[in-house]
Amino acid sequence: MAATVQQNFYKGKRVLVTGGAGFLGSFLCERLLAEGAEVLSVDNYFTGRRANIAHLVGNSMFEAMRHDVTVPLFVEVDAIFNFACPASPVHYQFDPVATTKVSVHGAINMLGLAKRVKCPILQASTSEVYGDPSVHPQTEAYWGNVNPIGPRACYDEGKRCAETLFFDYLRQHKVAIKVMRIFNTYGPRMHENDGRVVSNFITRALRGQPISIYGTGTQTRSFCYVDDLIEAAVRFMRTPADVTGPINIGNPIECTILDLAKQVIEMTGSSSSIVFQQASQDDPQQRQPDISLARSSLEWEPQVALERGLEKTIAYFERQLRN
Ligand code: NAD
Ligand code: UDP
Repeated sequence: MAATVQQNFYKGKRVLVTGGAGFLGSFLCERLLAEGAEVLSVDNYFTGRRANIAHLVGNSMFEAMRHDVTVPLFVEVDAIFNFACPASPVHYQFDPVATTKVSVHGAINMLGLAKRVKCPILQASTSEVYGDPSVHPQTEAYWGNVNPIGPRACYDEGKRCAETLFFDYLRQHKVAIKVMRIFNTYGPRMHENDGRVVSNFITRALRGQPISIYGTGTQTRSFCYVDDLIEAAVRFMRTPADVTGPINIGNPIECTILDLAKQVIEMTGSSSSIVFQQASQDDPQQRQPDISLARSSLEWEPQVALERGLEKTIAYFERQLRN
C-alpha cells in the first residue's frame, strides 16, 4: 500500500544534508532547494568537492559548513539526510578506521541531533549490508553475508552498525528514522579518481587507456542513475513516521561488469582494450535489488535507462577531461 505523501513537505523547512558536497549529496541539496527548503550542507571535503556545490553558493537558501560529522554538531533543523561517508572502495579503504568512525560516530551524532530537535532522519545505507549475497535478488528481509574482518568490512560493517543504531534510536528514543539501502548509483559529479567502475571505465575509455576488469567480469551490478536515486530519497523523507524502511533503492536491471565495459567502449567510440586483473578480495559476485517495497511504499521506480544515464555521464566526463 502506498503511503500518503505529504505535498509541500519541504517548503520553508531547514534541511541538513551531511556529505552535501559529495556526488549524491550535491544533487540532493540542489533538489531540496528546488523543493523550497533552506539547505545546510555539512561536509569535511574528504571526497566531496566545493566545485560540486559552487553553483549553489550565493543562493540565500543555501549554506555550506565545513565540519566533520564524527564531532557533535549543534544546529536547528527540521529534517536530516545523513549522506556523509566515502562510498568508493578506493576511498573507504584509504583510511578504514576513519570509515568506521564516520559511519558509526557520524550516525550517533546525527541521531543525537535528530533526537534533540525531534526531526526525521534518513540514512544513506547501502547494498553492501548484504555483502556477497547468497540470496538473489536481494530483498530487505535478507540478513546478508558480510566478512567482518576483510578489507570491505570498515564500510559494510560500519553501515550495518549504523542501521542498528538507527533502529535502536527508533525503539529507545522514538526518533523518526528512514533507512534507504542504496545500490550502485552513478552519474555526473562522480569523482574522477574514486575507482568506482562507471567513472573508471568512462575516463579510461575517453583517454584511450586499457580498461581493467578485476576478476573475470562475470560479476554483476545493477546501476541506478543519480536522478532516480534523488527522487526516491526526497519521496522517502516525505512519508509518514511509520515508513522506516529499510527500503532498497536501485535499478533492478542487472549487467555483468564485462558487458558494462563493452557498452562504455562502444558508446565512447574508444580504441581502449579490455585487460583482466586479479579479482578484489570479497568482491560481491552478484547484486540486484528487489524493489517491490520501494514500488509500493514510495510509488517509485527508476525511469532512466542505463544507456541514457551513461550518455549523460560520458558527456560530463568529456567536459571534465577537456578542462
Ligand atoms: P561521495 O564520496 O561523493 O560523498 C560522500 C561525502 O561525505 C563527501 O562529500 C565527503 O567529503 C563527505 N564526508 C566523508 N567523511 C565525512 C565526515 N567525517 N564528515 C563530514 N563529511 C564527510 O559518495 P556518494 O556516492 O555521494 O555517497 C553518499 C552516501 O551514499 C554515502 O553515505 C554512501 O555510503 C551512500 N551510498 C552511495 C552509493 C553509490 O553508489 N553512490 C551506494 C550506496 C550507498
Ligand atoms: N571493477 C572493475 N574495474 C574497475 C573498477 C571496478 O572491474 O576499474 C569491478 C569491481 O571489482 C566490482 C564492480 O566493478 O566487481 C563494481 O565496483 P565498484 O567499485 O564500482 O563498486 P562496488 O564493488 O562497491 O559495487
